[in-house]
Amino acid sequence: MDIDFEKNTDKLVPAIIQDAVTRKVLMLGYMNQDAWEKTQESGKVTFFSRSKNRLWTKGEESGNFLDFIEGSVDCDSDTLLLQVKPKGPTCHKGTDTCWGDSNEADYGFLSDLENIIDQRREADSDSSYVASLFKKGINKIAQKVGEEAVETVIEAKDNDTELFLNEAADLLFHYLILLKAKGHSLKEVVELLNGRHQER
Ligand code: AMP
Ligand code: ZN
Ligand code: ZN
Ligand code: ZN
Repeated sequence: MDIDFEKNTDKLVPAIIQDAVTRKVLMLGYMNQDAWEKTQESGKVTFFSRSKNRLWTKGEESGNFLDFIEGSVDCDSDTLLLQVKPKGPTCHKGTDTCWGDSNEADYGFLSDLENIIDQRREADSDSSYVASLFKKGINKIAQKVGEEAVETVIEAKDNDTELFLNEAADLLFHYLILLKAKGHSLKEVVELLNGRHQER
């Protein structure tokens, strides 16, 4: 891998540190040639610390090492992106990331939707469809998933793209409600699928 350490007069290249599994950005550090070589040799992410003015293996005091998985360089070879497995919270302030958030996998809008569904549990069942479903109970929710699945199957046999996508969306929406009603989350399902994939 060709990294342009000469681009900046300080011979440092920024390294974006990302969790290999959750894809969350954990921190940003700087590397010189030595730090990059040590990272690859030791398997522990090592930066050049500008404040310490020396090589700094993240976790050397705290034990919260970042196990190096793989790295790549950007379009003009002046920025690194490293995938890691963190041994503990990455930030010295104790949070998982240096931006204060937790290192939980995020499924974008689907995660937002899970949270909205969860909040609707307590909502007024006259004004909230989701709340009314929760009120009717698991069996009714499961039945709705079955209905939406059948509707999706029916539309799959037709050639109306819009109808098919709408039923597929209904199915996913009710599936998320069922997971929540059973006390589970999308994360558990994704991890199970990922586990099966790793076994192969
Ligand atoms: P550690 O490398 O985790 O043993 O931490 C040693 C020292 O490095 C801490 O006391 C902080 O001064 C600094 N440090 C640790 N983690 C970070 C971080 N994520 N960002 C900036 N500085 C850090
Ligand atoms: Zn660049
Ligand atoms: Zn931090
Ligand atoms: Zn439907």
